[in-house]
Amino acid sequence: MNAKIIDGKGFAATVRDRVAKTVERLKADAGITPGLAVVLVGEDPASEVYVRSKGKATLEAGMNSWEHKLDADTSEQDLLALIERLNNDPAVHGILVQLPLPDHLDPDVVINAIDPAKDVDGFHISNVGLLGTGQKSMVPCTPLGCLLMLREHHGSLSGLNAVIVGRSNIVGKPMAQLLLNDSCTVTIAHSRTRDLAEVCRNADILVAAVGRPRMIPGDWVKPGATVIDVGINRIESEGKTRLVGDVDFASASAVAGAITPVPGGVGPMTIACLLANTVTACSRAHGLAEPD
Ligand code: NDP
Repeated sequence: MNAKIIDGKGFAATVRDRVAKTVERLKADAGITPGLAVVLVGEDPASEVYVRSKGKATLEAGMNSWEHKLDADTSEQDLLALIERLNNDPAVHGILVQLPLPDHLDPDVVINAIDPAKDVDGFHISNVGLLGTGQKSMVPCTPLGCLLMLREHHGSLSGLNAVIVGRSNIVGKPMAQLLLNDSCTVTIAHSRTRDLAEVCRNADILVAAVGRPRMIPGDWVKPGATVIDVGINRIESEGKTRLVGDVDFASASAVAGAITPVPGGVGPMTIACLLANTVTACSRAHGLAEPD
């Protein structure tokens, strides 16, 4: 293996530490405790795990955390009423509705009901538009975490060829926007892309956000490239469930210059950025200087 392993877990600990210090300062200097409300509808097991770990991390950073667990058959009206209540609650600085929602609920309607200033996931149409026009916004946590790791590794990203495999609204598209804002030359690939292998071989930065275990092999990776593996896929191996990425780590790490592992790469940074976004939302709500 030649690639440097990008330690997302370690980097996330640094970000979380910085957030905790900012929270301490907000409490001591302004008497404000940032707070995050997470809404979970239904009983999707993976979502329950994510919501639990988000709540735990929020409390560990010294912030207030509220979990709203609603039945799977909750009506749109009841869910929107809860969001309205959270929008109007000054103690709540961040609101996150865990996706996916049950089929009878339209995620666009639900997400766009959140006050954009409290939309710490950055999925509200206003935040998408602000990011797309390079204005101050709430930036989606997963792509933000990827960007911070890339900046930490490369310094300037200007002029690098970035290929993102995946065009979802929550990862692929905002990732492309962030890399474009950092002056990369950006290609977004997806399931209809022709000769994906060749497109990937052009990438100085290759971001995989597909949801297919080990889909990208080492011979799609340009020698020395930086590989960010967003994928979280559960596979059965030797009678146990394991997490693997969208990139075949063994072959890719022999070619890449740097690579994020799964687990321990993008995942921990996503949660750290959620905490950072909550503190940012809190600072903005109170007209205070934004944390770095
Ligand atoms: P989506 O299912 O919303 O999007 C997947 C994208 O991959 C689509 O754009 C799809 O293309 C593309 N795709 C599917 N098959 C292929 C293929 N054979 N070749 C090229 N492109 C393909 O997924 P998400 O963006 O929500 O998530 C992607 C992965 O990232 C998942 O594993 C998810 O679990 C993980 N994830 C991890 C997070 C973390 O914190 N680490 C946070 C969020 C997600 P098309 O649009 O043409 O269908």
